[in-house]
Amino acid sequence: MKYISIGTKQQSVSLSEGIFKGLSDDGSLFMPEDIPHLGNDFYASLSGFSLNEIAFSVLRPFVEEETDDTTLWQMVEETFSFPIPLVNIHDNINVLELFHGPTQAFKDVGARFLSRLMSRLHPVRDKKMVVLTATSGDTGGAVAHGFHKVPGIEVVVLYPKGKISPYQENQMTSLGYNIHAIAVEGTFDDCQRLVKQAFNDRELRKDVAVTSANSINLGRLLPQMVYYFYGVADIQRRLPGTEPVICVPSGNFGNITAAVMAYRMGLPVKRFIAATNVNDVVPRFLKTGDYDPRDTIVTYANAMDVGDPSNFPRLYYLFENNLEQLRRMFSADIITNKEILETIQSVFQQHNYLLDPHSATGYLGLTREIKNDEVGFFVSTAHPVKFVEIIEKVLPGEAERLKKEFGADTALQGGTEHMPVSYKSLKDKLIEL
Ligand SMILES: *Cc1c(COP(=O)(O)O)cnc(C)c1O
Repeated sequence: MKYISIGTKQQSVSLSEGIFKGLSDDGSLFMPEDIPHLGNDFYASLSGFSLNEIAFSVLRPFVEEETDDTTLWQMVEETFSFPIPLVNIHDNINVLELFHGPTQAFKDVGARFLSRLMSRLHPVRDKKMVVLTATSGDTGGAVAHGFHKVPGIEVVVLYPKGKISPYQENQMTSLGYNIHAIAVEGTFDDCQRLVKQAFNDRELRKDVAVTSANSINLGRLLPQMVYYFYGVADIQRRLPGTEPVICVPSGNFGNITAAVMAYRMGLPVKRFIAATNVNDVVPRFLKTGDYDPRDTIVTYANAMDVGDPSNFPRLYYLFENNLEQLRRMFSADIITNKEILETIQSVFQQHNYLLDPHSATGYLGLTREIKNDEVGFFVSTAHPVKFVEIIEKVLPGEAERLKKEFGADTALQGGTEHMPVSYKSLKDKLIEL
C-alpha cells in the first residue's frame, strides 16, 4: 500500500514515511492510494470473528509491505487488549463503549497502535527519537500511556499549567520511564508554539529525531477503523443482516473518517451522523455549501472544541470532494451545552446509563435522526469520570460516586516538572534526554 497526498496528489510514500512525516510536502494529508474491499467471505463470517481477528484482517492490507504477519499480530494484541462492548440503551439505540483503555478515551486505540508502529519502523537508529506533543487534555494522556515503556522512544508532552483537570494531569505525570510530562507556565497555544519551533529547528533535528503523534497521523487513523467493524459484527450477531446507522461525536473528524474508511472497505452501514458541539463548521457546510472555519468556542464537550477540523479534508476526499455525494451518506447535528446537560440527566434518569458530555452529543445526534425501522449505535468516546465536574452540574450524587470509585479528587501523585514559555528550556530538555 502506498499513501498519497490528497492535495496535489503529487507525492506517494510508504507507511513509515507517512507516519514519520505527518504532513505531505505540499502541506496536505496522506490517504491510502486505494481502499481494498475485504471480500464477501470475510463479511459472511464477520459476526463470528474476535476483536483481534478483525483487527488483523482490517489492518493487514495497510501495513503488509513493512511488517510481517507475526509482527502485525503482536501489535494487534498489544493495542486491542481491553474490551469494546456494545450496550443497548433502549429500543434501537446502542452504544459502542470505546473508553475501557488505560486513559479512558477512544484515543488510546490510535495512540497505542501508532507507538507500536513507530518503534518497529523507526528508520534512524543512530539518533535519539522523541515524540513531542502539546495537549489540552485527552491527547496527552493517550499518547503518554500509548508510548509508555515502548523501547527506543522518549515522549515529551507539554500542557498548560493549571489548565487541565488533576485527573488528566495524573494520567500523564504518574508514568515515569520514557514519559516526560511538563507543565508549561502559559496557555495551550504557547505549548503548541514551542512544539512547532522544535519541529522547525534544523540544528536540533541533526541530533534528535523529533516526531509528532497528533490526530492527523496515519498510524492513529488506521486502527480506529477496527472498532466499527467490531460494532457492526456485534449488532449482526443479535440482528443478522442489519446495516446500522452510526453516530460519532466529532471534533477534528478523525474518528468518523475512520468509520467512513471502514464503509469503503465494504462494511455494511446505512449512513453516518456526525454530532458536534457548537463548533459547527461541518454541519454548516452540509447545509449551506460554504466551508467557513471559525475561532474555537469553549464548550462542555471540550475535546471537540475545534474551529477548523484537521481531518475533514480526508473525509471529504472519501466522497470525491463532492457535496451531493457527502449528503447522501452523511448528516451532522449541532448539540448545545444546555442539550448536553439535559441529555446526561435524562438518559441517566430514564435508562440508568451515565454519559460523558461528548458521548451525550452522540446519543442525542442518533436519537434525533434515527427512524423507527432503523437500528443504530453511537460511539462513547470517553468515560464520564474524566468529565466529572460537568456531570456534577446535573447529577451530583453520581459525580460523588465516580470520584470515590476512581479517586478523581485525589491530589497529584506524580509530581510535576515545570517550564517557562521558553524555547531554550525545551531545547535543552530535548538534548539532555
Ligand atoms: C478527541 C475526542 C473527540 C473527537 O474526536 P475526533 O477524532 O477529533 O473527531 C471526541 N470525544 C473525546 C472524548 C475525545 O477525546
